[in-house]
Amino acid sequence: MDLIKRLGLNKNEVGNQSHIEVNTEMCKICVDKPCIKVCPAGTYEEDKENGISVHYERCLECGAALYACPFGALQFKYPEKGVSYIYG
Ligand code: SF4
Repeated sequence: MDLIKRLGLNKNEVGNQSHIEVNTEMCKICVDKPCIKVCPAGTYEEDKENGISVHYERCLECGAALYACPFGALQFKYPEKGVSYIYG
């Protein structure tokens, strides 16, 4: 089975609480907000009040935003339910 077909078998189960914590004090002064640009899943959105809002249920666990954030404002742990791989 090729990679594209295997990835299509991934199944995300969303947990009840966010596995991503963000220090929004940093986000308020972060002008470029690179997390928004590098995340392929649209997990981060600009928020006028807090600087950023996090939609953890969209996260694909790639970790790109952790490396892109210039302030180290993100804390990430693997989600409680993780990703299930279903091979048929
Ligand atoms: S890159 Fe970091 S500091 Fe900037 S908005 Fe995103 S999480 Fe906040």
